[in-house]
Amino acid sequence: MNNGSGIVEGHEVVVIGAGIAGLAATAALVDRGVDVVCVEARDRPGGRLLSAGPLDLGATWFWPGERRVRDLVERTGIAVFDQHLTGDAVYESPTAVNRVKGNSIDVPAFRYVDGAASLATALATKVPLRFGAPVTAVSADPAGLRVTTSEAVFRAQHVIMAVPPALAVSFAGDALSPELMRLAAKTPVWMGAVTKVVVRYAEPFWREQGLAGAAISMVGPLREIHDMSGPGGNPAALFGFAVGEVSAQAAVAQLVRLYGNRAASPEQVHIQDWSREPWTSPPDVHARADYSWFGHPLYTRPAADGRLHWASTETATAFAGHVEGALAASVRAVAATTGNR
Ligand SMILES: Cc1cc2nc3c(=O)[nH]c(=O)nc-3n(C[C@H](O)[C@H](O)[C@H](O)COP(=O)(O)OP(=O)(O)OC[C@H]3O[C@@H](n4cnc5c(N)ncnc54)[C@H](O)[C@@H]3O)c2cc1C
Repeated sequence: MNNGSGIVEGHEVVVIGAGIAGLAATAALVDRGVDVVCVEARDRPGGRLLSAGPLDLGATWFWPGERRVRDLVERTGIAVFDQHLTGDAVYESPTAVNRVKGNSIDVPAFRYVDGAASLATALATKVPLRFGAPVTAVSADPAGLRVTTSEAVFRAQHVIMAVPPALAVSFAGDALSPELMRLAAKTPVWMGAVTKVVVRYAEPFWREQGLAGAAISMVGPLREIHDMSGPGGNPAALFGFAVGEVSAQAAVAQLVRLYGNRAASPEQVHIQDWSREPWTSPPDVHARADYSWFGHPLYTRPAADGRLHWASTETATAFAGHVEGALAASVRAVAATTGNR
């Protein structure tokens, strides 16, 4: 049975969610010759990897020591470069804007030349994907698991749940134990409550003033600001993290306070409020803040009689929250699905 169209598909594995965890899991299963399909609610791959050209509205960096990301970058041939660090930092308090020698805000990190979403795009071209297919139910019966979307029912021996656990509670109740439902319901979505503001300029003028583009503000709306320019400062951009609704006007006014009048004329302002993305964040995303639930042992064990496996970054036991964590969780899920194959 499905919601009306009558389409029923059988697969060895169904992966729910085409974020980087779901895409990496699907690609690994394809490589092992497994019959797999990945179903995705949005019309694009990548989930929290979202780029406007080379500018990142979701994840931005990866860091030294994140070997799974480094391996993926090398395998896919994606060009990366070093985050700009040079220059002084700026601190804004309610009473003053202070320039502080050196940059103690940024840490060494790498960026993707074409934006972080290029990681997802590189994998998405290689795997069977169904876009615009929100999963509305997952249920178990003796023959396996059933994944329902508005268009089809998928029958599978294994399901990989590559969505933030807090979203899974809305559709997977029939397949999850009450204990798992309680855990998933209280697990935060990493960065799910954040608004990211990216402001593009004709030139990285702050660098000419010896500033790194890094700032911390107790005033806001942007609380933490970084340089988001491409290699060699092209394109030139600053970005900041905020919480809740932010107007372009207020963000630019703050950048003028921090960096002077040249900040008043951006070429473009992108505002991405992740708390309003229903395929990333549940409506009460701001209420979940206990990150100690990340990587809980229940997420590391197969559920639903060994057929259901978690793969989102929130379920990783190391690097949880990062792309590296999402990749680590996908490796665990694939191993549980395929055994020694
Ligand atoms: C503003 C921001 C900045 C960040 N900065 C960094 C950074 O610099 N470095 C870093 O490493 N990490 C960063 N992160 C975190 C990083 O983006 C995540 O760790 C990673 O992208 C998570 O991947 P995932 O596949 O686990 O989840 P997601 O990317 O959330 O993927 C889940 C997928 O499931 C889909 N989905 C949801 N519900 C359903 C449903 N019912 N049916 C079907 N599909 C569904 C979604 O559409 C989505 O595509 C940042 C995140 C944000 C938001």
